[in-house]
Amino acid sequence: MSTPAFTLTAGPVAASPRVLAALGAQIEYDYDPIFLERFRATQRKVAQIFRTEGDVVIMQGEAVLGLEAAALGVVTPETTVLNLVNGVYSKWFGERLARQGATVIEHAVPYDSAVDPADVEALLRAHPEVGVVAVCHCETPSGTLNPIAEIGPLAHAAGALVICDVVSSLGGTDVRVDEWGLDLCVAGPQKCLASAPGLSMVTVSERAWQAMRENPAAPRRAYASLLDWQSAWEEEGRFPYTPSVTDIVGLEAACDEVLQTGLEAVIARHEHAARAARAGIRAGGLRPWASSEEIAASCVTSIALPDGVEEAQLRTLCRDRYGVVISGAQGELVGKLVRIGHMGIASTSLYPLVGVAAVVGAMGDLGVPVDVGAASAATLAALTGAPAAASAR
Ligand SMILES: *Cc1c(COP(=O)(O)O)cnc(C)c1O
Repeated sequence: MSTPAFTLTAGPVAASPRVLAALGAQIEYDYDPIFLERFRATQRKVAQIFRTEGDVVIMQGEAVLGLEAAALGVVTPETTVLNLVNGVYSKWFGERLARQGATVIEHAVPYDSAVDPADVEALLRAHPEVGVVAVCHCETPSGTLNPIAEIGPLAHAAGALVICDVVSSLGGTDVRVDEWGLDLCVAGPQKCLASAPGLSMVTVSERAWQAMRENPAAPRRAYASLLDWQSAWEEEGRFPYTPSVTDIVGLEAACDEVLQTGLEAVIARHEHAARAARAGIRAGGLRPWASSEEIAASCVTSIALPDGVEEAQLRTLCRDRYGVVISGAQGELVGKLVRIGHMGIASTSLYPLVGVAAVVGAMGDLGVPVDVGAASAATLAALTGAPAAASAR
């Protein structure tokens, strides 16, 4: 089977030449001064992207490790968690917390919607026992964004810690850890930063460290221990276990690329790409899955599947006939939508046009009444900023 020409997925995604070159460099010894300095520098660069002056722990496993470490660190069987659910990841996280013994108050909204901060405020007032609020910033499987800028301060006002999954939003959407009072934020390199999967970047606020220190069940001498990283690496300058050196080199290159382009410009580029894709999808006769423009993600565009279209068949057509790999759905969304990713290089140049043309084209191949020409024109107009009527839809 040949390698597809375009990978426009929801992660892992294609990397830039600079990141690829970094990932292909000679493997470094973890205690060589070059790598020790690189690890510290990478922590600082990641902190800049998170917009935090606080601590960043880089854990050596896929982002789920960071999410588990955050949960195990501050949630005990005595903790009541308000879990905000609007998609597959937030639902999974609540189930994970419940298995850990926590009392989980689930506030769920439909998977094409976002959580309303007014509801969060009311729930926190009704449940003063809530010690942790868990929220997913970008529900990648649905392509929707939650208003964490408002939810963070509400949780803090109620005296609760915030655990926030920003895995797919970091680098593609504004994330302000300190300003918004997000205690534990988890990201990975394989989404908008566009390096290889295999690491978790976790921000930890002073309040979160304190909660972890006071939690006798917080992992110690364990792979998922944030405290081990703090005491070994920050206090003694040694690694609790061998870091994934090559992944760190890739992550540093990805951060350099973002910071040299400018974080704001990179975020704006992702938003611009997603807006153009949505304009094209609508002009072509299809419907974005997200219930409104305001909550639509910038890292991925989810497209509602018309009746009778089989998801796997559509994706196979995109890959085999057009050379474009897109993402399907996850969990209970399977069969309802497909997704075009805009992460990293996929948010540059004409990549969104490629994604829209492939999806709308393949829909047409399957007999759906679509207009590939209108879809392409609208995407192009939105990408180039040309004042075409289609871009205003
Ligand atoms: C990608 C992603 C993760 C990491 O999970 P995987 O399923 O292992 O890729 C976690 N949360 C969100 C919101 C993600 O997009």
